[in-house]
Amino acid sequence: MMNTAWAMAWMQALAASIEEQTDYLTQLDSAIGDADHGANMRRGFAAVLTALNGFSAETPGDLLIKVGGTLISSVGGASGPLYGSAFRAIGKALRQPSPSDEQLRTALADGLAAIQKLGAAVPGDKTMVDAYAPALAAFEEALKQGGTAAAATERAADAAEEGARATASLQARKGRASYLGPRSVGHQDPGATSTALMFRALAKATA
Ligand code: ADP
Ligand code: MG
Ligand code: MG
Repeated sequence: MMNTAWAMAWMQALAASIEEQTDYLTQLDSAIGDADHGANMRRGFAAVLTALNGFSAETPGDLLIKVGGTLISSVGGASGPLYGSAFRAIGKALRQPSPSDEQLRTALADGLAAIQKLGAAVPGDKTMVDAYAPALAAFEEALKQGGTAAAATERAADAAEEGARATASLQARKGRASYLGPRSVGHQDPGATSTALMFRALAKATA
C-alpha cells in the first residue's frame, strides 16, 4: 500500500543508497563536472531525514512535498532545484492517504515534467532525464500490461539503470558537462546515476 509509511520507506532507502554511493557519484562528477554530486546528494538527503524526523504527514504527498522543499533549500548546484521540484510535483499528485497505481503514474510523470520545465533537457542530452524518461515509460508499460505497482516500479528501476549506463556514450548538451563538448563522451552521467538510485529505492519501498 502506498501510504505515508511507504513514502517514508522510499526516502529512507534513497538516503541510505546515496550515503553508500556518495564516492561513486562524486567520482562520476569529477570526470565531467565539478566533483560535488555525491556531496550535494548526501547533504540533501541528510537534511531530508532530519526534516522528516518528527514531521507528521497525513498523506505521502505531504511528505514528498516536504522532501522537495528541503532539497531546494539544502542542495546547491543544478541537482538540488531539479530533484526538489521533481519531488514537489510528485508530492502534489499524491495527496491522498493511499494513492492508486494510476495516481503514482501521474505523479511520476509530473516529476519528469517538472525536471524538464526547469532544466529544459530532452532525452539524449546526457542528464537525469535519460534515466527518468525510460523509467517512466517502463512503469507505464508494466501497468498497461496489468502489472502490480511492485512489478512496475521494479521494471522502472531496471530501465533507469540501463538508461544511466547508456549516458556514457552520449555527448552532454545541458549542465556543466556540456562545457566539455565531445570530451564528455565516454563517461556516465552522475545525475542519471542518482536518478537510477531514486527508482531502485522506489522499487524497494513498493515491493
Ligand atoms: P552541478 O552541476 O551544479 O555541480 P550536481 O553535480 O549536483 O550539480 O548535478 C549534476 C547533474 O545534474 C548532472 O549530472 C545532470 O544529470 C544534472 N543536470 C544538470 N543540468 C541539468 C538540466 N538542465 N536538466 C536536467 N538535469 C541536469
Ligand atoms: Mg557537480
Ligand atoms: Mg557544483
